[in-house]
Amino acid sequence: MMRVVDAKLIIIGTGPAGYTAAIYAARADLAPLVFTGSQMGGQLTTTTEIENFPGFPDGIQGPELMFNMSQQAEKFGAKLVYEEVVSVKKDEESGLFEVTTNTRSYTAMAVIIATGATARYPGLPGEKELIGHGLTACATCDGAFYRDVPVCVVGGGDSACEEAHFLTRFAERVYLIHRRDTLRASAAMQQRVLSHEKIQPVWNSVIDGYKKGEDGELCGVTLRNTQTGELSELPVRCVFMAIGHVPNSACVADLVDLDSSGFIIRCHGGTSTRTPGLFAAGDVADPVYRQAISAAGMGCWAALEAERYLQQND
Ligand code: NAP
Repeated sequence: MMRVVDAKLIIIGTGPAGYTAAIYAARADLAPLVFTGSQMGGQLTTTTEIENFPGFPDGIQGPELMFNMSQQAEKFGAKLVYEEVVSVKKDEESGLFEVTTNTRSYTAMAVIIATGATARYPGLPGEKELIGHGLTACATCDGAFYRDVPVCVVGGGDSACEEAHFLTRFAERVYLIHRRDTLRASAAMQQRVLSHEKIQPVWNSVIDGYKKGEDGELCGVTLRNTQTGELSELPVRCVFMAIGHVPNSACVADLVDLDSSGFIIRCHGGTSTRTPGLFAAGDVADPVYRQAISAAGMGCWAALEAERYLQQND
């Protein structure tokens, strides 16, 4: 049956999952529309060197890797749309998806959602006003503003360690605040961080409150010891939050099953969701691995599965 649609396939997101899906789908002549959202290139555009993406023995800068992926997708016919998707609906009668952005609506026969995840903040009083004024989740973006002053990183995972290590280039001292007394990060990362003379771990501690100076900028934090409840002050000029991410699944929440943290639950061991024709790939559907390479792999699966779906439903 002939149906008038804006695209056979719409891909939402331009991290490694979205771009890989775009490369595969474009090479299969599906001419996908790829919605970039507000952060084109996704989380990797805010990292520095990536040492574990296969094919780059000397490492590659995150923004460069994502730029290369976008070029590769466009070369094969993927079309980038610089709009942010706010909702996805499916018309059961026609089987078509309606993808609505901040500008207009588009129709497609299949959709891949690869919207990734966004940095989590603890939700303390006064937090929103301090973001961008001494509170951030991106050392690469903001680290250079805090030269020769003490800063802190919150978290005990690979992100926290990577950020702490990066910040030693600028900061006078980097406090690594972790709620337990053991890091979650990989052994190599732990070794790099714990042996660095500028990095001082603060174990069994969380931020209890922020202190704001008269200029509206953060000037310190109150710490709470998670074992004793004892409060203490730490005069830092910037807090780099690295306590994980929240999956960006809201725009498809009515069409998929979500786990308790908001990650999309995939079906049958692949990338399909409970809505036929809607596929999920990358961090938005991966509560476990969350690596650039695993996201890219899932993007490949999603494109192949979408192609099969379109063959069967065209
Ligand atoms: P993560 O591994 O989930 O670590 C989050 C950290 O924040 C944990 O240490 C956790 O403490 C802490 N945390 C969570 N909620 C908190 C709260 N409300 N208050 C205080 N602390 C809190 O997240 P991630 O570091 O962003 O890493 C995500 C994934 O990306 C991982 O698979 C990681 O390996 C990967 N990654 C890899 C690289 C690399 O290979 N170069 C770099 C960055 C990230 P607990 O430990 O107590 O749970």
